[in-house]
Amino acid sequence: MNAQEIRTAYLKFFADRGHTLIPRALLVPQNDPTTLFTGSGMQPMIPYLLGATHPEGKRLVDSQTCLRAQDIEEIGDNRHTTFFEMLGNWSLGDYFKIEQINWMFEFLTEVVGIDPAKLYITCFIGAPEYDIPKDTEGAETWQKLFAAKGLQSGIADIGSEEDGYKRGIKDGERIFYYDGSKNWWSRNGDPKKTPVGDPCGPDSEMFYDFGTPHNPEYGEHCHPNCDCGRFMEIGNNVFMAYRKEAEGKFVLLDLPNIDHGAGLERIAAAALNDPDVFKISLIWPIIQKLEEISGKRYDSHTESMRVIADHLRAASFLAVDGVVPSNKEQGYVMRRLLRRAIRFAFDLGVEQNFLEQVVPVIADLYQADYPEVKANREKVIETLVKEEKAFRQTLRQGLREINKKFPLQINMVAVGDGVAAPPNLPVATGADIFTFQDTYGFPRELSVEIIVMQNRATMADDWQQEFDAKLLEQRQRSQTATKGVFKGGLGGQTLQHKKYHTATHLMYESLRRVLGDHVVQHGSNITEERLRFDFSHPDKMTSEQIKQVEDMVNEQIGKDLKVSFAEYPTKVACEDMGALGQFGDRYGETVKVYTMIADGENKPFSFEICGGPHVDHTGQLAEGGKHFKIIKEESSSAGIRRIKAVLQ
Ligand SMILES: [Zn+2]
Ligand SMILES: [Zn+2]
Repeated sequence: MNAQEIRTAYLKFFADRGHTLIPRALLVPQNDPTTLFTGSGMQPMIPYLLGATHPEGKRLVDSQTCLRAQDIEEIGDNRHTTFFEMLGNWSLGDYFKIEQINWMFEFLTEVVGIDPAKLYITCFIGAPEYDIPKDTEGAETWQKLFAAKGLQSGIADIGSEEDGYKRGIKDGERIFYYDGSKNWWSRNGDPKKTPVGDPCGPDSEMFYDFGTPHNPEYGEHCHPNCDCGRFMEIGNNVFMAYRKEAEGKFVLLDLPNIDHGAGLERIAAAALNDPDVFKISLIWPIIQKLEEISGKRYDSHTESMRVIADHLRAASFLAVDGVVPSNKEQGYVMRRLLRRAIRFAFDLGVEQNFLEQVVPVIADLYQADYPEVKANREKVIETLVKEEKAFRQTLRQGLREINKKFPLQINMVAVGDGVAAPPNLPVATGADIFTFQDTYGFPRELSVEIIVMQNRATMADDWQQEFDAKLLEQRQRSQTATKGVFKGGLGGQTLQHKKYHTATHLMYESLRRVLGDHVVQHGSNITEERLRFDFSHPDKMTSEQIKQVEDMVNEQIGKDLKVSFAEYPTKVACEDMGALGQFGDRYGETVKVYTMIADGENKPFSFEICGGPHVDHTGQLAEGGKHFKIIKEESSSAGIRRIKAVLQ
């Protein structure tokens, strides 16, 4: 089966088993400015896994387009891509573990035709300190299925990844127990890190064995979670059976959920028994086109072709979903993807416009299965081609600057007995190269290549270090700027400031609950006397809506919510946990998230990215018999409303 057939077969397989096929979510999450991209099939489903009712029922299946932009620089190996599709099926309190394992085994071995002898399984080893047992039910269900195929499949304890490298795989073993760092799902990781109140549970991953030799650089022995490339994870079944009730206490859910996600590209690679995902039917035609355009072979220009194919797939789908290249947010990532693709094309000797030839190949691969690709085909090609032309213009300007600073040398003439006069070449420093890149958008590799190959200058010995230092300096400047937003926007240290800040969070969440998810913070200002808050909303608020928001805030003050914060990786906070943020903010690698939750409740009322500071309990806002009151609601600019509110 090729990749397209696997996708179709998967959707049908689960539709035949009572699942409703739901459309993919867009690559740009709607109404959520804290998250740049949809990064997993589970992400749009989180509210339903946390208990909301899904309008399409309890059994759902889809193929979700995903983008993981944090991996851009990593692309080039045989399995990572920024853009990919995740096949997902869900049970929202319906069927559970046994059905899921049986179906996945049937789908992979009977429908796709993967050799079961090549499949390896991992399960959860248990967490005795929390009374969570080892998942013997899962392991034994898999074991029976392998036995029915005449395959011996020993079950063994591994533990951590490190233990895996020490122990390896013994003869006849196929199913392995790993600890919470590998086989436990929650929005924040292993049982210890699972947020209180959240559903969570053990998971079981499926690996394909390509049979390639283990690379001992990764560790002494190979095991399914080894990164050497022999094993590739092709899917994960999450058995969401628990809820963390308190620190260290897990209770069984009455109606557990199933969440299954599998990389389509990876299953297709397994079906081909080739560890190179770029060989699958959804990518290989792009590579072939690049070979045709450049006259170069994939075998000799592997990394460049992988980068170009990956980046153009991602950029094309972004264009399908309405993103245009820009210097902000999703548009900025799209621009970076396109520029990197064009830059890597230089390595293939392709220095002229080529997107016009490649993008239609990508559209051809998807338009039969995604009607929106067909509908937007011309627009997508036009968007990408326009950006390519603009970038080449930038490149030309950069070349002019290089020419000015390091003109071509004309003193390279032979003298006397034919020895070239030692040219008195200038020295190009890391700072020069950085300026070309930072100011003129001229990529560093290209600058160096042109300067050295054309003998315009010699490179300073330490140019690389100097360049890296400049880059780091610039990154730190922009991160400080981000932190400045936290401080400057909502700063202040007095108790009165803190109270108004906490009230701002309660009001933001209340506005979203009363008016809708389109409400996004656009600005905030706090003084000793009042809070001011700007947010997106098309209409004037009615007096009834104002009253509802006031009541909601006062109710939460009355419940004396506990206010606390924790630091999370930005991706986890934004994409997995759905933390609220501010419009237009770009965050560093980690963010501080403030939670306001009532005693005994599972879900926080407010969960927002913020630098603080806040009061410890919302009850403090009522000290002195005060109430929250909105004193003004007015237009700030088009589509933006402004509220002033007080505690009085
Ligand atoms: Zn290995
Ligand atoms: Zn805040």
